[in-house]
Formats: sequence, C-alpha cells, structure tokens
Amino acid sequence: MNAPIPNTPGCRDVPLLKERGQREVFCGLTAIVWLHRKMQDAFFLVVGSRTCAHLLQSAAGVMIFAEPRFGTAILEETDLAGMADAQAELDREVEKLLSRRPDIKRLFLVGSCPSEVIKLDLEKAAERLSSAYGPAVNVVNFSGSGIETTFTEGEDACLAATIPSLPSTEARQLVVAGALPDVVEDQMLGLLEALGVGPVSVLPTARADQPVAVGPNTVFALTQPFLNETHAALVRRGARHLPAPFPFGEEGTTAWLRAIAHEFGVSEERFNEVTAAPRDRARRAVAQASAPLREKSIFLFPDSQLEIPLARFLTRECGMTALEIGQPYVHRDIVGPDIDLIPEGPVFSEGQDVDLQLDRARAARPDLTVCGLGLANPLEAEGLTTKWAIELVFTPIHFYEQAGDLAGLFARPMRRREILQLEAEA
Ligand code: SF4
Repeated sequence: MNAPIPNTPGCRDVPLLKERGQREVFCGLTAIVWLHRKMQDAFFLVVGSRTCAHLLQSAAGVMIFAEPRFGTAILEETDLAGMADAQAELDREVEKLLSRRPDIKRLFLVGSCPSEVIKLDLEKAAERLSSAYGPAVNVVNFSGSGIETTFTEGEDACLAATIPSLPSTEARQLVVAGALPDVVEDQMLGLLEALGVGPVSVLPTARADQPVAVGPNTVFALTQPFLNETHAALVRRGARHLPAPFPFGEEGTTAWLRAIAHEFGVSEERFNEVTAAPRDRARRAVAQASAPLREKSIFLFPDSQLEIPLARFLTRECGMTALEIGQPYVHRDIVGPDIDLIPEGPVFSEGQDVDLQLDRARAARPDLTVCGLGLANPLEAEGLTTKWAIELVFTPIHFYEQAGDLAGLFARPMRRREILQLEAEA
C-alpha cells in the first residue's frame, strides 16, 4: 500500500538533555482561551486568585456580544488561611451561576496554584456537584495550575478529564483528538471523508449532547503533540493510538493521513488522488514562504510542546538547521515519529533550567530563537531574532492549506530583522 516515510539517520536514539530548574512558561489556564470557543455549551470556572482572574481576562479579553463562558471563583484570604469552608462557598457560586445560565451543559472546575496549595479537593467538589446538577449539567474538574505544567497542558488535562465518562461503543471508528480552529477541522474532515475513512469523531465536541463514544475498536489520532494524558486516558478506555508525525507542513500532513489511510485500507491510488492537489499547493506555498529561512539556524526553547514536530517541519521542509530543540516534556510514543525524521545534529532537551539554556543560546547565536514572551524581549535586545511560541497555538497552522502560513510565521521575524538592519545601515 502506501510508500513508507522517507528514511533519514533520524534522532530516535539521541539522548535527551534533561533539566529541572527555573522555567519561563505560562500556566494551563491559558488553554481556556481556545477551549471555550470550541465547546459552546461549556463554562470554565477557575477556582483561583485575583492573579488567575487577571491572566484569564487579559489573555481572553472581554466577551462583548455573548455571555462569558469562563470566570474565576476568587479565593479570598480567609479561604487561603483555612478560616472559611471553601467547598461550601464553591457550592454557592455554582448554584448562582447555574440558576442564571441554563445554557451551561458542561461545567469545568479548573484548579489553580492557590487551590492546589491549600489542597482544595476539586474532584470531590465535581462529584458532589454532578450528583446535584446531573444529568442536565456534567461537572468535571481539571488542573490549570502553573506549578508543574506548561500552558498547553491545560487542554490536555481538560480533554483527559472528560474521557472516563464518555459513552462506550464497540464500533470500528476513528477518533481525532485535539482542539483545532473550526475551518481547519473542516478541512481535515473533508480529507478523511474523501479518503473514505469513517466514521470519524472529533474530541472535544462542540456540544455535550453529541459526545464522542470510545471502545476497543476505536483507533485514535492526535492533532496536538501535547496530549499526553489524553493519549493515556484513551488507551485506558481500550482505544489504540495511530502513531504518526504531526500534520504540520506538506510532509507531516501526508504522513499523518497516510497512517490513518493505512489503518483503514485506503488504496494508494485513492490516497494519491485525494492528496495530490493539496500536497502540491502546500509544497509551493512552503517553498515561497520559507525563502528567508533557508540555511538559517534555529534554537527552540521549551514552551508550547509543539517544538519537536515544528523542528521537523523547519529542518526538512524549510531548509533550517536546528541547534537545540527544547520541549517541556518528551513523550516518545507521541513525538517519536517526528524525532525519527529530524536530521542528526541538534541537542534535544527536556524541561528547563532557564539560565543554563540562555547561556547555550547566547553561545550558539542562532539566526532565529523560538521562545516564550518573557524571554523574547531581552534576547531581541541582545541582537537575537525571536519568535513567540504562544502565537503558534493561536494561529491556524495544521494541514496542507496552512503549511505556507506556518513557514511564514517563522519567516516574518527574519524579514523584520533584515529591514531593521538595512534601516540602521542607511
Ligand atoms: S494558576 Fe498559578 S500561574 Fe496561573 S495565573 Fe493562577 S497563580 Fe498564576
């Protein structure tokens, strides 16, 4: 059937540089910004401090034309000092919210650093509130705390928390897990339908009354490389993962679709028929957008957990050389197929000790550095060209039609630096 992915020496056996020190990343509450748009009958109630409320408000902005679908139950000093019954206060807040908002069908209680520090048991609260308000409202808890996590883990924790209560099925089917912008999700479903793959369900679903079912004949593909817990939760429900490179760029998208096509017995002719035109468009778009990236070096700080698949795209499709590829956590069952395709050479690091990593970046003087917002400005001031990792999560970058835009996102800061240099010399 389909031809295998081209072989390279690959980096599967390259040892990881593991670091555990100070980290510079956003917390998992950030994921609420994109999750609340995907799950249209859900409400995300953060149990946290004023800092958490401010983060959410500034990241998500204010919803002017619709009732907000996220909010913060603020823990006051008396709660933090253990002088008030925080569980009883939470019940009162939920009661107020749900009596005012009958449109809420899924309520997520989202843990934060303060609720975890005072050991507020949100699992117990979710069970209690589910019995009080179910089945009309499904109450689930997950952690968005920044104590040990990075911002994309908010989505992972949220999706994983929903999986134990999903209905069971014996049906042979494909589940695709990972929140994508609607337009990209539609493109993906269009490709799978054209290949004749089905039935297909997508996690998360837009509405609680259309839940994904899962069981022993379910196979699943991930569209986001940060879904470690979701992967484990689906496997616990008997589903089988289809490992593949992630659908970034022409090659990644083709390899991702190929793994699914192979599983569902799609013929080589049909695969080529469906993918030939979008592959060609993607190749041409990447070739054009990636011109400023050719033969340039890149250093990726660990931030979004997209780093390894993106490094594969940048090295293989955009002609860049990766010096260091940092990722907060490396789960080889998930990102192994991408690691296999990355040409030998870069340091692979897991976790962060930010000062040591900054020293390595300064010594390496990469042409482009991908990092969090907190590091970007100081590095720019030192003459390095940077790209904010968080933009990659808020921009449509998956599948064929976005391949050129993805290359363009990295090319833009290179162009900006070039223009600034020309102006300085003039
Ligand atoms: S969860 Fe923690 S890191 Fe995130 S805003 Fe609240 S206090 Fe800050």
